[in-house]
Amino acid sequence: MSTINVRRKTLVTVAADPNSSAVTFTSKTADLSSIYGNHCFNEAVQHQRLPEKVFESLQETIRSSKQLDPGIAETVAKVMLDWAIEHGATHFTHWFQPMTGSTAEKHDCFVMPVNGGKSIARFSGSELIRGEPDASSFPSGGIRATFEARGYTAWDPSSPAFILRHKNGSTLVIPTIFVSWTGEALDMRTPLLRSMAALEKHALKVLKLFDNKKSTRVFSTVGAEQEYFLIDRRLAALRPDLLVTGRTLFGAKPPKGQELEDNYFGSIPERVIGFMTELEYELVLLGIPVRTRHNEVAPAQFELAPFFEPANLASDHQMLIMQLLRTIATRHGFHCLLHEKPFAGINGSGKHNNWSMMTDDGENLLEPGDTPHENAQFLFFATAVLRAVHLHGDLLRMGVSGASNDHRLGANEAPPAIMSIFLGGALEEVFQQLAQGAATSSKKLSPIEIGVSSLPPISRHSADRNRTSPFAFTGNKFEFRAVGASQNIARSTTILNMIVAESLDYMAEKLEQALKTGKEFNIAVHEIVSDTIRKHNAVIYNGNCYTEDWKAEAKKRALPNLVTTVDCLPLINAEESIKLYEKYNVFSKSEADSRHEIYSENYIKTISIEASSAIEVAGTMILPAALNYKTTLIKAATTALQKGLLNELDASIDALIGQLKTLKEAITKIPEGEVINAAEYCCYKILPTMQLLRETVDKLEELVDDELWPLPTYTELLFSR
Ligand code: ADP
Ligand code: MG
Repeated sequence: MSTINVRRKTLVTVAADPNSSAVTFTSKTADLSSIYGNHCFNEAVQHQRLPEKVFESLQETIRSSKQLDPGIAETVAKVMLDWAIEHGATHFTHWFQPMTGSTAEKHDCFVMPVNGGKSIARFSGSELIRGEPDASSFPSGGIRATFEARGYTAWDPSSPAFILRHKNGSTLVIPTIFVSWTGEALDMRTPLLRSMAALEKHALKVLKLFDNKKSTRVFSTVGAEQEYFLIDRRLAALRPDLLVTGRTLFGAKPPKGQELEDNYFGSIPERVIGFMTELEYELVLLGIPVRTRHNEVAPAQFELAPFFEPANLASDHQMLIMQLLRTIATRHGFHCLLHEKPFAGINGSGKHNNWSMMTDDGENLLEPGDTPHENAQFLFFATAVLRAVHLHGDLLRMGVSGASNDHRLGANEAPPAIMSIFLGGALEEVFQQLAQGAATSSKKLSPIEIGVSSLPPISRHSADRNRTSPFAFTGNKFEFRAVGASQNIARSTTILNMIVAESLDYMAEKLEQALKTGKEFNIAVHEIVSDTIRKHNAVIYNGNCYTEDWKAEAKKRALPNLVTTVDCLPLINAEESIKLYEKYNVFSKSEADSRHEIYSENYIKTISIEASSAIEVAGTMILPAALNYKTTLIKAATTALQKGLLNELDASIDALIGQLKTLKEAITKIPEGEVINAAEYCCYKILPTMQLLRETVDKLEELVDDELWPLPTYTELLFSR
């Protein structure tokens, strides 16, 4: 039988010239530091171009996280306009992070008609400060009824404007918050900024108690490592499931996956390094400090990590990194996958959120210091994090939930859904000694007395790194590994900031009280730290978090195990959560309710779309291929064994038809009304039905003539470069 198998033809093209659809990119300079931030209206540009007074006022606005003084807005806008035009910009846009998971922009041209058929380039102070996008089409979870579809965007001067280039021009981009007219957050950035303010307030309170007279500000800092897959675009185009849902809904296990462990840190393929070079060039222009690139564990999987920055900037930059990963991948003939689990059976992609706190005079509050005093302060902050994760591990877990990350968390290659802390050898020892009080059983160390003895050296790259822990101390920061590759880090950072703020608040108050009763400072700190560790060390776990043993042990320790998003959704607006949000001014009740609605709907929609895509692919691509092969087999089968093959095929085809019918029916029956019912239905009914269908399709992949198989296989997707 002769068929024109598009898949096979495409494979031949890809193999003959893997770069045929790629552009060549020649970097204009090898000295990336010479172009760093050239497309960013950063402090250097501001200083150079703005009148001295205006520059100082703007800097003061940034330093104090205030609103821009309308008196200087006009001047800033004019200077920004000239700068943008010099960089080829024709339009400007307010750029924000609505609750869609991505960013939003609406461009306005600088051209302004004036009398006499002429026009001028114009960008006013009020256009810089505030915009009013039609908010009705963004998710608001009921906060803003459509008839009063009003929200506005406002420039956040702590995040500098930048130039975004495309093939035929450029746009001036103003990073903004997005809120309703009644001031409720409709975006990811507003709560992040609020949580940073809460953390700052309570961290400063602690610093004051430690007699710090230098620091006036504290920022949470974030460095997010991004994992991603690159697949040849020509092959991805033949996988509607991949294009629509970001993951493969079908695909038999390939003969070779990652078992040889030959990919991690392996040499980077030619086309990929070409892509990375252009990506990094563009990121550096934007002032995004990219630093590390390497092959990841799975075939076709890679990682990029920037230097850490203040959390709000890091989160903006992270959104831009994801955007540029996608667009620049396309230029190089790749399809970039940011989904947490694009391929079953091999590693998924995470986004490790490296988190710490830093003062404006450059002190990392999670850096063990050189003096006993510094160490006492370090232990106080580290203990506050321990307490926060123990008390609010459920919220942390909630902050990384979502339909796509569910496939990864707990899938035995990613951190589990149980939140625990790994401290690493040296710090672990210190904590255990403190928990036991001065009477130490340790042979290696003399008893720790806070404020008197100094800590043993705590290695930043100790050999006993525990990759299975969701939350690990890595020398001078914590690494939260449960964050998903596609997620906006603002969400998990907001929760982290808030729960640590709460801990610092609580512990600072204890310290204040103790001091009031006349207790000596070092003794008071020692008691609070030891006491806190004793109460919360159930959250410390150094073993392998992938095991069943740990699940049982965690249960004994009463650590929550929120397996799926459905388990997390009620927490978003649970009474206890709202109390915490309100106390630290991170979300109001109505904002929490709206987010509950938005995340629930997102979950339901994601799974419904996946189910529809599965039906489409299985019904219109797989079933015809299988039937086609059956006709061949009927003609060919003469012996009993051959007929056995036919029977096996028949059984799978029947199973496929039956499962398709069940799935089709199932998606018509998603309950209306309370979103939680629909979410539960998607989780416990639709997903398992899709899984059964997948097993049948994957079996057929092994039965049907390769010449007839329409979908590029796992081997082809993962190993064609
Ligand atoms: P590794 O994960 O291999 O240990 P690094 O320690 O170099 O790698 O850091 C990983 C990420 O952590 C990088 O993005 C880095 O900038 C970030 N990081 C380092 N120090 C801090 C800090 N104080 N706060 C937040 N992130 C940090
Ligand atoms: Mg790391």
